[in-house]
Amino acid sequence: MSGLAVVGAVRDGETVGLRCVGGVVAAIGPGVVPEPGDETIDAGGMPIVPALVNGHTHAAMTLFRGYGGDLPLMRWLREKIWPAEAKLEAEDVYWGARLACAEMIRAGAARFWDMYWQPEATARAVEDAGMRATIGGPLFDADGGTAEVKAQANEDLAALQDRGPAIGAALAPHSIYAVSEELLRWASEQAAERDIAFHIHLSETEQEVEDCVKTHGVRPAAYLDRLDLLGERAVLAHGVWLDEEELELIAARGATVVTNPVANLKLAVGGVFPYPAARDAGVSVGLGTDGAGSNDSLDLLSDLKAFALIQRHASGDPTVLPAAEALEVASGARAPLLGGGAGSLTVGAPADFLLLRGNSPELGIGDLASGLVYAASGSVVDTTVVAGRVLMRGGQVEGSEEIVARAAERARRLGIG
Ligand SMILES: [Zn+2]
Repeated sequence: MSGLAVVGAVRDGETVGLRCVGGVVAAIGPGVVPEPGDETIDAGGMPIVPALVNGHTHAAMTLFRGYGGDLPLMRWLREKIWPAEAKLEAEDVYWGARLACAEMIRAGAARFWDMYWQPEATARAVEDAGMRATIGGPLFDADGGTAEVKAQANEDLAALQDRGPAIGAALAPHSIYAVSEELLRWASEQAAERDIAFHIHLSETEQEVEDCVKTHGVRPAAYLDRLDLLGERAVLAHGVWLDEEELELIAARGATVVTNPVANLKLAVGGVFPYPAARDAGVSVGLGTDGAGSNDSLDLLSDLKAFALIQRHASGDPTVLPAAEALEVASGARAPLLGGGAGSLTVGAPADFLLLRGNSPELGIGDLASGLVYAASGSVVDTTVVAGRVLMRGGQVEGSEEIVARAAERARRLGIG
């Protein structure tokens, strides 16, 4: 069976070839050469590394980039985002998500975890872009309407499930403060029944923790556990204020935490996700950008630097997070659920990988992992391959100009820009 072959790539200082067939790595090593019928890429000495996994975002919010970004959170939501979102059409979400996909491919992500309205439109955008994503429409019943929210979620899930290997469906209750206990319990049952993931914002602000303790008598992770929501299918975005007891509980239950350091800094949440304690407790951890409305970049390599810096700074210990370990967090290697087996280029792993500009100013000298974390941004990515398909070559994502133009048109329709 023919596939895609890469020759002349460099891994750990050694020249290697790689073949992928049927979307997975079929062979990798010094002696691997193309077989008849293979599409072949000559890497010309470029380093080959696993692609990245963006563990938490709201892809179509590229439409709201820079819109009211200097307002405090609640004013930003009430005065800017929610009124604009009330006018959203599927085509807005589609082009916003296409723009997000183009940015993520350019910066080396192969897959992402998304929470946004009209999730079927995001799924179409992901398929057309050639990426992979686990997608959920946000559940939100702070203003009532629980029955309608459930009906909409059933509709969304029907449109997301059984679309093929590129798209995973998820239940995505927005947060413990925007979703009733009844709806959280329902989401828990649905996720188990359908055997799909569960994606929620948790412990993002100190206020959320205080309110949770006041209302439910326990901190956020214990509250989720009480609702049977803290199992292996749970992805918890943020986790800034998790304490050690909560981290032990999350580790014991097998849930995953996704840290979003740049969004946390921009929204001034006032704390830092306790990564060293999470790692030591055995928690699976991934890295996310969050949406372009609150980051505003989807360049995970840039956020990787922020992640490493903030952890070193907060702990007062420059040895707390080695560069190679930080890179593993960004490639999903430390969170099996997020990456679906990605994160290492071994036979049978998803054929999601990058060829890097090894002779660029940022990567030309010194240790590759250190260069990627501290010197590089997404601009060092030359080639992005997802499921054995070349989505970018030479740093150019095909169709980018049209995608930017169409997304800008949709943003103007919503009254932005
Ligand atoms: Zn978010």
